[in-house]
Amino acid sequence: MKKNSHIDTQAIHAGRINDDQFGSLATPLYQTSTFIFKDAEQGAQRFAGEQEGYIYTRLGNPTTRQFEHRVAAMEGMEDAAATATGMGAVSAALLANLSAGDHLVSSKAVYGCSYALMAHQLTRFGIEVTFVDMDKAENITAAIKENTKVIFLETPINPNLVVLDLEMIGKVAKQHNLISIVDNTFLTPMLQRPVEFGIDIVVHSATKYLNGHGDVVAGIVCASAEMIQHIKMTVLKDIGATISPHDAWLILRGMKTLPIRMERHCKSAMQVAEFLESEPLVKEVFYPGLKSHSGNKFIGKQMKAAGGVIAFEINGDINDGAQFINHMQLFSIAVSLGDAESLIQHPASMTHSPYTQEERLDAGISDGLIRISVGLESVDDIINDLKQAINKIARQQGAASLKKVVNFS
Ligand SMILES: *Cc1c(COP(=O)(O)O)cnc(C)c1O
Repeated sequence: MKKNSHIDTQAIHAGRINDDQFGSLATPLYQTSTFIFKDAEQGAQRFAGEQEGYIYTRLGNPTTRQFEHRVAAMEGMEDAAATATGMGAVSAALLANLSAGDHLVSSKAVYGCSYALMAHQLTRFGIEVTFVDMDKAENITAAIKENTKVIFLETPINPNLVVLDLEMIGKVAKQHNLISIVDNTFLTPMLQRPVEFGIDIVVHSATKYLNGHGDVVAGIVCASAEMIQHIKMTVLKDIGATISPHDAWLILRGMKTLPIRMERHCKSAMQVAEFLESEPLVKEVFYPGLKSHSGNKFIGKQMKAAGGVIAFEINGDINDGAQFINHMQLFSIAVSLGDAESLIQHPASMTHSPYTQEERLDAGISDGLIRISVGLESVDDIINDLKQAINKIARQQGAASLKKVVNFS
């Protein structure tokens, strides 16, 4: 494959290993824990790094390697390290670049477990963290100290889809000599490539869009070849958050359709967001594709489209929120996103439960917020499902207020 192939072609071909023995079209699955050395000398050479080749799957595997090459090519980065989960990728990127006494600046609204890792785990090992609202450069620079090493963020921010300015943040990081890490799970390289804004490390939960079929948990870190070597040798090799070759194989299979899946997710999500915005029961819709959203100005600038995740707040209390979810017929009540199936969840009680209520409100996650991942089903069916749930809640609320009026009289 030509190095400068289009990203749609890379999704299918990048990193492909040719099977000279049998000519397999599909990626061979090397489901093996270890690799046989011809003799003691070869084993010694492999361990000394004097000969290319595999040793043991925790250190590397040919199927996994193809997955790493594919995502790295699509992100426009030199190399990648696959991990057992998205959190494995976040942990590896942070642990490889932080030691006791170092300081980290993170966006205050991030994926729930990334927040917990930084706020509750890294701090146990003498790593300091400051959470800031990264919408303004001043907020970030005010938090940077002598010992600051890393800046961490995701955009759009889970779950209410606030968009952060990657160009601005990339510049601040360079000016202060910080290693910048962006979680690109929500958009994938199809819609956003942080490297174009000087970001050093991109992490993914491959569980989501990259795989896209809801049958794997996995992650990946993309960066320079030197950084990936550092991450593999200092953290992954010893901590062991290695991906299973079978999972890498499934993701490679899923990724072939990533370009067309993302196109469909974006198109349907836009229609769903417009529908929700037109419904009186819905107080606010958070989707950067909408003109009403603060992130809309970044479309075409740092992101090609807004992705498939929408958050919205309905008029009503926390019970109405829970009831709403219970009324869904096509949508499944489940966390995660990026699958063929449409999913719905309640961040306050699910994904963002690692936050305290105070931390949650501070990060802009209200109790009535609902998040959906728009799947690949017919968009008419998706909208109809939301419509019938909205109608049920509206009827219940109407009956309740009527009862109040009757009681009052
Ligand atoms: C799901 C997710 C993660 C964690 O990934 P896992 O594969 O579940 O470990 C990290 N960041 C974001 C934005 C996510 O959506």
